[in-house]
Amino acid sequence: MSEATMGSNGASTELLQGRSVAVIGYGSQGHAHALNLRDSGADVVVGLYDGSSSAEKARADGLRVASVAEAADGANVVSVLIPDTVQRDVYEADIEPFLETGDTLVFAHGFNVHYNEIVPPDHTDVILIAPKSPGNRVREEFVAGRGVPALYAVHQDSTGNATEFAKAYAAGLGCTRAGILETTFAAETETDLFGEQAVLCGGFTALVQAGFETLVEAGYDPALAYFECLHELKLIVDLAYKHGIQGMRREVSDTAEYGDYVSGPRVVGEASRAAMKEILAEVQSGAFARQWIDEARGGQACFDRMRVDGAEHPIEVVGKKLRAHMAWL
Ligand code: NAD
Ligand code: MG
Repeated sequence: MSEATMGSNGASTELLQGRSVAVIGYGSQGHAHALNLRDSGADVVVGLYDGSSSAEKARADGLRVASVAEAADGANVVSVLIPDTVQRDVYEADIEPFLETGDTLVFAHGFNVHYNEIVPPDHTDVILIAPKSPGNRVREEFVAGRGVPALYAVHQDSTGNATEFAKAYAAGLGCTRAGILETTFAAETETDLFGEQAVLCGGFTALVQAGFETLVEAGYDPALAYFECLHELKLIVDLAYKHGIQGMRREVSDTAEYGDYVSGPRVVGEASRAAMKEILAEVQSGAFARQWIDEARGGQACFDRMRVDGAEHPIEVVGKKLRAHMAWL
């Protein structure tokens, strides 16, 4: 696939003015969408389940709060910003019955639509706006007069206006100030799942734990292993985040840089690359999604067991003691 250009893509908030938008969920993304869209001229209502602890917070922020069904019924744009694992049930019970011709469904991650857990009716528009930041940063940057970059995509365009509205919504979040990038539900979902499994979460934690275990098994002090394999990562990641990989290499010592070139590819070699291809294939085929949906719906016994095992790993035990000495944390 070719590289898309990132810019404001000709977006403005005009299509958002006075539009009734129901933001379902007031968590990380929900609160940022609700507040930024309101401040950009939309008529926002927050939809929450009865007894949600977020209701008071949303009211304190000056927003109208209703049940999910009432909010979805009264709005012609419905943003589904609740955890991916509960979206299908909430959608079927309290959103779908109220979707009218020309309404727009908005998602911040393509998972449920891409894997057909949610199949919206033909007479609706279905779009994705995925800010590339946690919700609090989306709000903070907006308030500061800036924005964070976002991906946008159209899954279904019944009105002929879905793309223009997606861009207006992204502009309303402040994202066009940083730049928005057009993609598809498939590409957003598949790259997101692959990235978190192979690199950001899975690859990273397995790499750190393996490095830690290698040093500890060779007889080194677990505290030294912790500092070398986990603590110092932040410095490296911060440098790469700001200056890229080569910029990070310029900042570390020549010895570290030379060791990086000759040893890195031995750690992540053919076996790891083959595993990455396998993981990507399972994401693309829907096999991973099926496995996770079944696990989540079946009571999460495996998930809970892996959580407990993870918490008992020696790196957690030594890390807890060491972090108690880091006043800045
Ligand atoms: P979150 O966990 O922060 O928010 C959850 C919200 O949903 C809360 O208001 C909670 O009360 C509500 N909720 C939970 N269960 C509910 C239920 N059964 N019925 C009704 N409401 C319920 O969620 P989030 O991290 O903001 O994720 C929302 C969407 O945004 C997801 O699709 C996620 O993939 C996507 N996303 C998140 C981020 C992020 O940084 N967190 C970034 C990009 C995209
Ligand atoms: Mg992600």
